[in-house]
Amino acid sequence: MRVYLDHNATTPVAPEVADRMDRAARELWGNASSVHHFGQQAKAAIDDARTHVAALVGGETSEIVFTSSGTESDNFAIRGAADVLEATGRTHLISTAIEHEAVLNTFKALTRRGFRVTLLPVDAGGIVDPDALRDVITNETALVSVMHANNEIGTIQPIGELAAIAKAHGALFHTDAVQTAGKIPIDVKAFGLDMLSISAHKLYGPKGVGALWLRKGVRMLPFMTGGRQERNRRAGTENVAGIVGLGTAAQLAIGTMAVDAERLRLLRDRLEHGVLTTVRGAERNGAAEPRVPNTTNISFDRIESESLLIGLDLDGFAVSSGSACSSGTLEPSHVLKAMGLPHARTLSSIRFSLGTSNTDADIERVITALPPLVEKLRSLTTVGGRR
Ligand code: PLP
Repeated sequence: MRVYLDHNATTPVAPEVADRMDRAARELWGNASSVHHFGQQAKAAIDDARTHVAALVGGETSEIVFTSSGTESDNFAIRGAADVLEATGRTHLISTAIEHEAVLNTFKALTRRGFRVTLLPVDAGGIVDPDALRDVITNETALVSVMHANNEIGTIQPIGELAAIAKAHGALFHTDAVQTAGKIPIDVKAFGLDMLSISAHKLYGPKGVGALWLRKGVRMLPFMTGGRQERNRRAGTENVAGIVGLGTAAQLAIGTMAVDAERLRLLRDRLEHGVLTTVRGAERNGAAEPRVPNTTNISFDRIESESLLIGLDLDGFAVSSGSACSSGTLEPSHVLKAMGLPHARTLSSIRFSLGTSNTDADIERVITALPPLVEKLRSLTTVGGRR
């Protein structure tokens, strides 16, 4: 039996989600924009999903816009806000050095259009200091975008405090909550946010579906041009089955999140402690807290992470080195680099991200398998080789 420890890359679709999506695909095939019975059935299913997604993040139903992915939600939030605010003379954008590529590359694209972008640093634990934002924000800042939790190391950012600073300067605040939705409670109102992105496939829903929570009153230019779907905010005929899948995943997460989080935290801590105490030269990357309960990132001295990843895969364990999008390349993790870790350590890190199917036995197996595998790889590696 293989052990899947890569839930931050994607999660398996929950059986209830697959069942409801299957039914939606067969029965709710009407176009939600049609006024007849078939269209209205599809629209009702979308609206039902919208209530669950809104409840998951503490927003209003009318504030949820469905998209094709977390990536699209990030693009929509950042480009939409930049487009509206450019006309007001606000051409400064702020984010952090540890964002996902969906955010970083969107800001990069905006610099080519004349926007000035400041990336905030993080400390050695992977956390943004609110004073760093205070130091750089001005009345020309249009938008601040800081991820809720990092996908590689799991650290949680002080988004409430950061959002308050943005607000005091008249800037909008967006957070990429792709790695927290369904894992820890989110309350967009208590946090004082303007926009928040989520993605279905990180919370046991389908791939290719996401949502943007957009606070009522925030003016945005639609990111896609076309029809008037999603109250004129996102053109394109809705992916009804996918949206039903996201809604079901959100509904399930609301019911199980607290219990799952505590169970996963215990398993994660057991895994982390087991590895750090049994494998020589193993060190955790990133602060222990605040951190999402399912994630640990560990560097193994004198080991190339790709070799360990492949060795673990051959032994039946699925893990990741850095973020999933950059696996397969030998580029050091930009997150670990931003934390100031030594170059060698940035190339020897493995992310273990747990999920609902993981058991005590899985964790015991990986703790047992790692020490001999690491020693074997070290014996094959020329000391000081590539690094
Ligand atoms: N943001 C973060 C923090 C992520 O971890 C991911 C996926 O890895 C994304 C955005 C992109 O989401 P999607 O895969 O739905 O495009």
